[in-house]
Amino acid sequence: MIVTNTRYQPTREEFAELLSEHRSYRIDQLWKGMYEEGLAIEEISTLPKALRAELAERFPAALSNRTERVSEGGETHKWLWGLDDGDAVETVLMHYTGRSTVCVSSQAGCAMACGFCATGQEGFRRHLTTGEIVEQVVRAREAALPRRLSNVVFMGMGEPLANYDAVWGAVRRIHGDLGLSARHITMSTVGLVPGINKMAEEDLPVSLAVSLHAATDDLRTELVPINARYPIDALATACQKYVSASGRRLSFEWALIADVNDTKEQAIALSELCRELRAHVNLIPLNPTPGYLTVGTEMSGVKQFQSWLLERNTNATIRRNRGTDIDAACGQLRASQAKNSGSDSVTTSVSAPRRRDRGTSDFVD
Ligand code: SAH
Repeated sequence: MIVTNTRYQPTREEFAELLSEHRSYRIDQLWKGMYEEGLAIEEISTLPKALRAELAERFPAALSNRTERVSEGGETHKWLWGLDDGDAVETVLMHYTGRSTVCVSSQAGCAMACGFCATGQEGFRRHLTTGEIVEQVVRAREAALPRRLSNVVFMGMGEPLANYDAVWGAVRRIHGDLGLSARHITMSTVGLVPGINKMAEEDLPVSLAVSLHAATDDLRTELVPINARYPIDALATACQKYVSASGRRLSFEWALIADVNDTKEQAIALSELCRELRAHVNLIPLNPTPGYLTVGTEMSGVKQFQSWLLERNTNATIRRNRGTDIDAACGQLRASQAKNSGSDSVTTSVSAPRRRDRGTSDFVD
C-alpha cells in the first residue's frame, strides 16, 4: 500500500485546513520548520509538544534510509531510500564549484524500456508521489549544508513526464516552498510530446533536457523505443513550442555508444537539429550495463564527436562521470544492495538485478 499522507505530500493550504482548529500561526511555524529549516516535525520546537507528536504520527516520513554513501572527498552523496511498500529509489547529491545539484527519482522503475538504461531494463513498478519526490530534495538539501542546494534535476530513476501531476506538484513545491528558481530545476525526458506540450502551458519556466541519443528516426527508435510513437519531427515541434513559451534554452542528452551513435553522420544530423532549436548538447560516454552489450565510446571518440559539432557551431560539452566509487549510478546502488542482502532483498516486487549500471554524470543545469 502506498501511504499518501506522508509529510511532504499536502500543500500548505491543505495543511492549513487540517490545522484550522489551531491558532492561525501554527501553520506558519509548521511550514517554516519543515520547508525553511528542514526539520523533522518532531523537532519543530515552536509547536506545542502534543501537536508535534500528533502531526508526526499522522504524517510519517516517506523515505527511510537504506544505504547512504559518500564519495571520497565528499563531492558525491548517494542514498538508497526505502519506500513504505518495500520498494526502493535513489537520490544523488553532487557538489561543484559554485553549485550543488540533487538528482531525484520520479518513479520506481521505468516503462520507457531504453535498452541501454538499467532502470529501463528493470521495467516499471510504480509512480512516486509528490511527497516522495519533495522529501528527496529536502533530505539532500539538509545533507548539503553548509552549502546551499542550488539545482534539482529529474534525472534519477523513472520518466518524470509519465508521472506528470505528481512531478509538477513537486516542481511547484520546490519552487514555491523550497525557494529554488524555475531555471534551476531541470526536467529530463525521453521525449514525451504531450508532457512537453503541457509544460509549455505552465507558468514555471523550468529547464528542459531531452534524452535524444540519436538524430535519425531509425536509430532513435532502436535506442529509445518511445520514438516510434513520438518521432523526431514531432518531438522537435514540441521542443520549439516549449522554448518559445518558456524562453529557456533546450539541451539534448547524448550518451555516446561505440559505433552506434558516435558517427559523423549522426553529428551532422544532430547539429542540424540543434541549429533549428538553438539547443545545447551534453555528451557522456555510455556507462556499461550488463543488459546491454555495446560499450561506451572511448574519450578520443567523444572528443572527435564534440569537434564535429563545434565545427558546425553546435554548442556541446562533455560531462564527466561522478561517484563511481560509491555506486553512484542510477540503479546501481539498488542493484548492489539487492545482490548482497539475499532473501532480505531491497524489494520484493522485483527479482534482484545483478547488473552494473550507468555512472551518474555531471549534470548541466
Ligand atoms: N527518463 C528521463 C530521466 C532519467 S534518465 C530521461 O530519459 O531523460 C537520465 C539520463 O541518463 C537520460 O539522459 C538517460 O538517457 C541517461 N542514461 C540512461 N542510461 C544511461 C547509460 N547507461 N549511460 C549514460 N547515460 C544513460
